[in-house]
Amino acid sequence: MSNETPSSRYLCQRCGNCCRWPGDVRITDAEVKKIAGFLGIREPDFIEGYTRLNSNRTGLSIIDRPGGAGECIFLNGVNECLIQPVKPLQCSGFPNQWRFPGWRQICEAIEDVS
Ligand code: SF4
Repeated sequence: MSNETPSSRYLCQRCGNCCRWPGDVRITDAEVKKIAGFLGIREPDFIEGYTRLNSNRTGLSIIDRPGGAGECIFLNGVNECLIQPVKPLQCSGFPNQWRFPGWRQICEAIEDVS
């Protein structure tokens, strides 16, 4: 039986399922700068090619792969993040800093009992 509580911590298993979850992947101005630098492109080119307005039109989100099934454009194969060292806080914070309803059905992270 699981002893999971709202404050439990989880260890990501790199299944990549959250990278295929539909919805906004919000990025801040600082993250735009960092990701564009990592990709070696100009910020306006990154914004033009890899972002869209998020659903409540308050900022930018990373786009899905064109023609894909809702996966992030930076997901390569099953579970490789092409911007892993500079991925947005929304990505690195899941599932320990925030969770969405039903997250346990898609996320393979295991509870950290150490
Ligand atoms: S769904 Fe959970 S275990 Fe899978 S990559 Fe995302 S955070 Fe890690």
